[in-house]
Amino acid sequence: MMNERALFQAEIYLDNDEFIALKLAFYFYDLKEFSHMTLLHEPNAEGLNMERGPFDVIVVGGGHAGTEAASASARMGAKTALITHKFETIGEMSCNPAIGGLGKGHLVREIDALDGLMGRVTDKAGIQFRVLNRSKGPAVQGPRAQADRDLYRAAMQEEILAQDNLYVISQPVDDLIIEDGTCVGVITGDGETYRAGAVVLTTGTFLRGEIHRGTERTPAGRIGEAPAIKLADRLYDTGLRIGRLKTGTPARLYKASINWDILEEQPGDDPAEPFSFLNSEITIPQISCHITHTNEETHDLITSNLDQAPMYTGQIEGVGPRYCPSIEDKVVRFKERSAHQVFLEPEGLNSELIYPNGLSTSLPEDVQLAFLKTMKGLEDVRIAQAGYAIEYDYVDPRELSQTLEVQKIPGLFLAGQINGTTGYEEAGAQGLIAGVNAGLKANGSDREFKISRADGYMGVMIDDLVTRGVTEPYRMFTSRAEYRLRLRSDNADQRLTPVGIEFGLVSDERAALFHVKQDQISKGIDLLKSLSLTPNEAETHGISIKKDGRHRTAFELLSYKGVSIDDLSGIWPEIRSLETNTAEQVIIEARYAVYLERQEADIAALRRDEALSIPAGFSYEGISGLSTELRTKLEKHAPETLAQAGRIDGMTPAALMLVLAHLKRAGKSKASTSDKKSA
Ligand code: FAD
Repeated sequence: MMNERALFQAEIYLDNDEFIALKLAFYFYDLKEFSHMTLLHEPNAEGLNMERGPFDVIVVGGGHAGTEAASASARMGAKTALITHKFETIGEMSCNPAIGGLGKGHLVREIDALDGLMGRVTDKAGIQFRVLNRSKGPAVQGPRAQADRDLYRAAMQEEILAQDNLYVISQPVDDLIIEDGTCVGVITGDGETYRAGAVVLTTGTFLRGEIHRGTERTPAGRIGEAPAIKLADRLYDTGLRIGRLKTGTPARLYKASINWDILEEQPGDDPAEPFSFLNSEITIPQISCHITHTNEETHDLITSNLDQAPMYTGQIEGVGPRYCPSIEDKVVRFKERSAHQVFLEPEGLNSELIYPNGLSTSLPEDVQLAFLKTMKGLEDVRIAQAGYAIEYDYVDPRELSQTLEVQKIPGLFLAGQINGTTGYEEAGAQGLIAGVNAGLKANGSDREFKISRADGYMGVMIDDLVTRGVTEPYRMFTSRAEYRLRLRSDNADQRLTPVGIEFGLVSDERAALFHVKQDQISKGIDLLKSLSLTPNEAETHGISIKKDGRHRTAFELLSYKGVSIDDLSGIWPEIRSLETNTAEQVIIEARYAVYLERQEADIAALRRDEALSIPAGFSYEGISGLSTELRTKLEKHAPETLAQAGRIDGMTPAALMLVLAHLKRAGKSKASTSDKKSA
């Protein structure tokens, strides 16, 4: 259907020869396969459109950062071009077909709260949903979903095609147009020039990407795709600090070659809990994963082949993620462990492939097959695609400001793996922030879209990146956040949707749903706060509390150990009128109320320091008492606020006070100069 509409439009825009070529291509391939031509999709004009710009924003790369960046910028009303190698790889999951997890699931909910794509796309593609840490408190619970790789890609492409103001161009970007130090556009592989008010680079692992497997080395952005060499050279020429990192992926296995009957089954949650605040249920069929383990024989085989592992022969220089190590790394680092758990995860509902989670490796294929066969259930396994490691360039994120704009090159924003992170969720969250800021900039606004550490994991991540930089691929953990009790995945909408509404980033549908939900929660809390009883009355209902004669509200009672909402409904039947989701939120609010109150003072102090901005180019030269080491660090990091200065490695409270005093003096002398001028 889409192809018929596109053909109809193409007939209008293309000349005869081009049209015949296109028609033939449609005949032999699906439209999405037809990526070697420059096709521009203007979806809401129902088909192809030869729009060439100028654009407000150009996003380079259609991965997890790029799709969020392009969608966010277009939602802000900016005319946006998404320029990416191939339309059909938009939304490709390079590695594990799973979204979310601890810390990462929080990021997905935050993306969703700001009307980003990842949460709702996962709800259309998820084939196994699980809330990790369900037995622990809500602050550390992480929603996770195993996705059908094809459904995920298709749902993401559908979202991109349906977005107003968004055009897709299938081309490599080889160069940046930088005029008077500002980035004003890009040049694609076919020599076309595209200009824009802001450019967002989200090139993932493609910058000078190189795949390693045993002694084999292949230049590639990921398997089967060319690396971005010219663009990487251009970034080097700009003088940005650039480093090298690595990551890896396991072999993909044929489902039919695994002995499922002898493996432990791991079902998902029933019912499945959607990621998106817009959805109340999951309608995709759900599947189970299975579990196997490595054993001593596996470990011996790996150890005896370490001389063929690129990480150990010195062939790979880039640093890999410590917390997501390859199997050869695990065997070497955790010698005391006689087994490691491996999850066998289907790549899709109809896929014949299995992703063995926990077995990332760059050993030669024959060694991979040999160690796989030592494991229970995998005795006759066959490999569809061998695992590999990839090394790539990244830009030191300390080159960026909190808006993700490159400090030295205004107009250029970076998001995703290019900033030294790893993971779809980390990439998507940065993409959204960069996309909004690029949209604001291109439209001439001087507003900036920043999330504080007190308001979101997004804020924690970006602050960590731009303040501390990375020494290994950065991934999100709940332990990175100071205000975990506040930054829960269940309340991401309460924390962020209002700011999304304020910036015009959120659809009317979401805004309306949010207001209804908020209204129900506050009415629920008011109801529980309006009901109370004395300790003696509580005792008659089997609830034992300190006999101090003080009334306790139903809201307070909910935070007492062993008191449930059902117990309270028995005392006050009107509580039963609360809708299940509202009741769940009210319970969480009640249980965390005391702790949150305690955290409020810290959050208020953080906000005060965040409000104290340090002007660009601020000189630390004349601060007496500040050590040379700290002065050098402050000059290098160029913190934007006092809060950020406080998080620089090695910063002491005394040094921070000196900076604060100097800031105030500088502010005063500036104010008195401008007073004199205006007098
Ligand atoms: P990507 O998803 O890589 O998207 C980049 C996009 O940019 C692609 O569409 C590409 O075609 C396009 N592009 C690149 N250069 C250009 C150019 N010059 N012109 C036009 N388009 C361009 N993450 C984990 O969390 N855990 C893991 O274990 C893990 N293992 C991985 C293993 C491998 C082998 C790979 C490749 C990745 C792995 N990842 C892992 C990382 C995860 O895939 C990325 O973090 C995530 O995809 C990054 O998103 P992104 O948007 O930054 O980049």
